[in-house]
Amino acid sequence: MADNTALRLTLFLSVFAIMAIAEYCFPARLAKIQRSIRWRTNFLMMISGALLAKIVVPIGLVGIAFWVNEQQLGLMNITNATTIFSVITCLLLLDILIYWQHRLFHTMPILWRLHKVHHADSHVDTTSGLRFHPVEILLSLLVKAFAIITLGVPVIAVIIFEVLLNAFAIFNHANIRLPKAVDTFLSYIIITQRLHRIHHSQRVNETNSNYGFSVSWWDRIFGSFLSEANQPDENLTLGLKAYPATENNSRLLTLLKIPFKKIK
Ligand SMILES: [Zn+2]
Repeated sequence: MADNTALRLTLFLSVFAIMAIAEYCFPARLAKIQRSIRWRTNFLMMISGALLAKIVVPIGLVGIAFWVNEQQLGLMNITNATTIFSVITCLLLLDILIYWQHRLFHTMPILWRLHKVHHADSHVDTTSGLRFHPVEILLSLLVKAFAIITLGVPVIAVIIFEVLLNAFAIFNHANIRLPKAVDTFLSYIIITQRLHRIHHSQRVNETNSNYGFSVSWWDRIFGSFLSEANQPDENLTLGLKAYPATENNSRLLTLLKIPFKKIK
């Protein structure tokens, strides 16, 4: 288990470093808030979420998967599915689940209170992919745990899924703009930075599109895919109107309190 944590941390740091260097050298947009302020807060948000998750589910998702497979629980174990079939099926099903979970976080007002902490970031870069309210992280963890138990997800599939989800979140929040032809080609398969920035636009119809974190297929299948925003990428207004780019709106405590604020 310890090796697994080290491997995941190494992969996370590698993807993060690559994307951070790319956006430092070729930024798609300029931030209105100092990098150090946003980065500190976004990292602290990630640490808060990880701590809460560790306290509530100390064994983690991989631990749950070990237990489920030891006990031979869940659909894949009951039906004696082959490992390769289980891994592929579970990866696809988990990804569809995360797509719908994200969509629900946008459409259910009580969940949007949590998720808007992520969208309140006035600038979108690699660290935005780490910025989720700890309660959202916890809810997502419980949803995934439920899926792992009912499906009987193999341990290796859980590890692959967690690594990919993390890597994709860092990748598609990066403040870079791929060459048009590359972006168009890739958008048939994955959610590119440009597509994900449409999801971070202040326009409601644009925010409520491109929910996918990894592949763009679910948005295409479930009718939420938006290939172009109203404005060109460089002029998109990102974030939320209620949270303009101020230092105060970039403080950890402000973010943690957002879900509990009275809506005027
Ligand atoms: Zn969202």
